[in-house]
Amino acid sequence: MKRVCAWCGKDLGTVPSVVHPDGLITHGICKECAFHLRAQAGMPLRAFLDGLGVPVLLVDPEGNIKTASRDARKILSKDLPEIEGYRPGEVFECANAMLPGGCGKTSHCSGCAIRRTVTDTFETGKSHEKVKAYLKQETGGARQRLSLLISTEKVGEVVLLRIDEMRVEDNPQPGEEIP
Ligand SMILES: [Zn+2]
Repeated sequence: MKRVCAWCGKDLGTVPSVVHPDGLITHGICKECAFHLRAQAGMPLRAFLDGLGVPVLLVDPEGNIKTASRDARKILSKDLPEIEGYRPGEVFECANAMLPGGCGKTSHCSGCAIRRTVTDTFETGKSHEKVKAYLKQETGGARQRLSLLISTEKVGEVVLLRIDEMRVEDNPQPGEEIP
């Protein structure tokens, strides 16, 4: 079974297929990616993130976003001053992030897949691949659901949060809970 870097796509060789019998490809992070993220001695961090060519946010242990790749800025339609230092719920414009307490602190936040996934990666060091996450947006009184697929990886003291897919659903399916 092939193993590739989940971040730059580099081939990491093969692993015995007994380890992951369900898929053809297993993911990890390559030494170069980890180096650039850990050591500030390499390429400037944002240049490295931009070079990945995918939307990636860097989250610190307090759950704040340290910085974002160019593709992340594009998909979110936000510039760095509107991203750096903010909570994920704020940059994704989650309606719950506007409630008292803010992103991660409201009674709705325990069901948030973004929060759960990032927290788990911080606590266990385990990476996650294409996890489904939903959040509720309210724009001018209209309610819509933002549907996401996210992946995470812990590198040193930060977690990489990749946005694999992001789309607005105007009509959430009946019975589908928006956390
Ligand atoms: Zn890599």
